[in-house]
Amino acid sequence: MAGLIKREDIDEVRNRTDLREVVESYVTLKSAGIGSFKGLCPFHDERSPSFHIRPQLGTFHCFGCGESGDVIAFIQKMDHSSFTETVELLAARINYELHYEDGGPGPRREDYGKRQRLVDAHKVAEEFFRTQLETGEGAAAREFLTGRGFDAEAVAHFSVGYAPKGWDGLLKHLRSRGFVDEELKLTGMFSEGNRGIYDRFRGRVVWPIRDLSGATIGFGARKLYEDDQGPKYLNTPETQLYKKSQVLYGLDLAKKQISKGRQIVVVEGYTDVMACHLAGITTAVATCGTAFGTDHIKISRRLLQDDGTGGEVIFTFDGDEAGQKAALRAFEEDQRFIAQTYVCVEPTGVDPCDLRLHRGDEAVRELIANKRPLFEFAIRAELKKFNLDTVEGRVQALRQTAPIVAAIRDSAIRPAYARELAGWLGMNNEDVNRSVAASIKRAKLPRNTPPAQPQAQGTPNAPAFERPDQRDPVMRLERQALEVVIQQPQRLADEQWQAFYESRFMAPAHAAVHDGIVAASTAGASAASWVEVIREEVPEQLRSFVSELAVTVIPALDEHNLNRYCSDIINGLIELQITHRKAELIGRLQRAEMDPDGEEYSQVNKELMELEMRRRILRGT
Ligand SMILES: [Zn+2]
Repeated sequence: MAGLIKREDIDEVRNRTDLREVVESYVTLKSAGIGSFKGLCPFHDERSPSFHIRPQLGTFHCFGCGESGDVIAFIQKMDHSSFTETVELLAARINYELHYEDGGPGPRREDYGKRQRLVDAHKVAEEFFRTQLETGEGAAAREFLTGRGFDAEAVAHFSVGYAPKGWDGLLKHLRSRGFVDEELKLTGMFSEGNRGIYDRFRGRVVWPIRDLSGATIGFGARKLYEDDQGPKYLNTPETQLYKKSQVLYGLDLAKKQISKGRQIVVVEGYTDVMACHLAGITTAVATCGTAFGTDHIKISRRLLQDDGTGGEVIFTFDGDEAGQKAALRAFEEDQRFIAQTYVCVEPTGVDPCDLRLHRGDEAVRELIANKRPLFEFAIRAELKKFNLDTVEGRVQALRQTAPIVAAIRDSAIRPAYARELAGWLGMNNEDVNRSVAASIKRAKLPRNTPPAQPQAQGTPNAPAFERPDQRDPVMRLERQALEVVIQQPQRLADEQWQAFYESRFMAPAHAAVHDGIVAASTAGASAASWVEVIREEVPEQLRSFVSELAVTVIPALDEHNLNRYCSDIINGLIELQITHRKAELIGRLQRAEMDPDGEEYSQVNKELMELEMRRRILRGT
């Protein structure tokens, strides 16, 4: 067993890793004040961003679900990886050599983060498939690609490869590169028979499927030979890395443009993604052997920053039943998302790849430009089933389509579609409106269910911390002071630090965070591990609260205002302490008045006068 990674190495890796860069490979961020960014939370489903990061402090916090932590925790939660694996991954990313407690040179090969090993195996496999494409046997694959309009440059851009016939080409190659069968079994690239494992993809064109960070985590493979008994398309099965409900082919290439252009185009196949990108639609992705589902919606929405202010999702379907069903399913899934969802159907039923092949790039761009709202698509698809030339047909059609219009929850859009429907049916508005209204009553759809509230539960024996009431001015000032000290420690002068150390906080939660800050500061925490050390110093159930304080937006638009805000708040805190102390002293003074000549009386009086002086200096009066 390899030992623990040395603490200073962990700190160093954390310090050298740009939190913003890491988070941005999963979440589109926008500015939320000086040094602060926000985006849609990757850990819970939401419509307006409550996930905040503060890169300088290396900390993130979600005000919606309470998830929080540093860059290591972020990746652990996103990738479901262990702490050690994650630190090793981040270290590898910045070429930093880790040292371990037992003094060894590092973990033995087989101990090395499992996820990283799987990723490495995929990388080697991808290279193998690419070289195989250039061999004599690869001719069939090259012909397939050329026949679909992809030249060598396009093939290289998408790293398309060829999996040779035979049973162990890839297996032998990976074994020769030091991988053992036990770990290869976990990659999904091999099938298992009586005599051990063998290549899963044989005699096929293969496309690497990548995650958001660009790491290859699986493959999609299309058959080439007549005698292949397998399915036309074969993908990696579910593995630790590859979850088909979450992967989107092409997302690694498209994600920047998706965020920038606030558009995502969903096509049906690998060659369609290639065709779209080559035609200039660089926001195209495809699901891999599954329908576009809830997880895909979440991922897309995060990239689009879908907070209701725009961003469009465009589905292309070749007009067949399956595609329409997929669209209608999406329609049921998520209305807010659907309001910005469009559908493109090629009238002749040709997919983007064939369209480009026969009619060129311009035709692909036109297809996408001729998008129609999904609502319209869903209603019209239903209308097609009826003969609208007869009264009976129209009545039946209305009966079937009114519920679709009724299901539109956005009351700004619903009346417009009711009007449209009346037009398509050739009926008058009142009849359609009445029918829609009746459907709404019948359906009584559950309207926006509130998101689950985060539970801030402690262990049974731990003290419970009540959330301080922010309507109370003292609580508010305490909190603001903690925010300033956690977020802007470098702005505090020595006297301000001293005053902060000595301050007493009334709310138990604030007092515990104050103690944590004092402990972190005496421990000499470095700037980049500042928040993490404070989090470690406070009781567990307050860790998320610390992150919350670290990312709460300070109301200052520029450096000058920020400086003034920080010093105002700290002075406010000092003044509050003076007020507390005075109240105490006045109580003592009253008791000491029994003996006006005594030591106590003059002592207290003297301190009171000093306090008043300090207060005046603070106020500048
Ligand atoms: Zn969240």
